[in-house]
Amino acid sequence: MNDVYTLDVLVRGFPGTTRTHGGLGWCSVSVLRDGTRTVVVDAGPPAYQEMVLRELEQRGISTSDVTDVLTTHLHWDHIGNFTMFPNAIFTVGRVELEWSAQQPPETPLVADLHVRRLLELGDRVRTVDDGGEVVPGITAIAVPGHTPGHMCFRATVAGGDVLFAGDSVKNRYELATGDVHSSLDFEASRASVERLRALMEQDPSIVMVPGHDVPLAWVNGEVTATEPLNAELSVYLDTHDDPDSQTFM
Ligand SMILES: [Zn+2]
Repeated sequence: MNDVYTLDVLVRGFPGTTRTHGGLGWCSVSVLRDGTRTVVVDAGPPAYQEMVLRELEQRGISTSDVTDVLTTHLHWDHIGNFTMFPNAIFTVGRVELEWSAQQPPETPLVADLHVRRLLELGDRVRTVDDGGEVVPGITAIAVPGHTPGHMCFRATVAGGDVLFAGDSVKNRYELATGDVHSSLDFEASRASVERLRALMEQDPSIVMVPGHDVPLAWVNGEVTATEPLNAELSVYLDTHDDPDSQTFM
């Protein structure tokens, strides 16, 4: 059994929101493979469904091949597509599952139906605590604040470990400063960011996949994006053949 994974970031998160139509929910979705397991980290929002299917297909992966889905936290944009994976075991922080199950349906960002469906899956749902091994080569790091039971997953990947930070670190600014945009406990969030940043300072080969940004590295005491940021918005007014398109780099 090989516990070193290869990483494919299927969708890069984007550090933006709308001012008029609520959050975009454009989060990072990744897949890890070690020859035995196929592990999806965060299932993404419903609008990603076709894109995630296409990205998996291009890598020769069917949804039934996915053995595990790791969920950093239970906000709608990170869990939305979890029902796409009929054979997967779902891993979530123990505190996160307990907390979300107790929230009233109007709780912001927690989709009541997602949580109920997850709870129905019985022994296909596994909970994990700080330091727990999720599967060989992947461990959980408790990073509360954004939500009470938020988890980061650390995976052994050829070339350097990868931290899947979810929304404990949404973007490069939050990693650099500890000043987060959205949290249920800002003090806890700051400590969580500092915990993950310290890991990156100790081992510069570590790459972080944040919740809403491209993968980040920590180089010479600074946050560095490992690739350019890209997003495009098409606006359909007169035609759908050649829509006006805005690109942000
Ligand atoms: Zn979130």
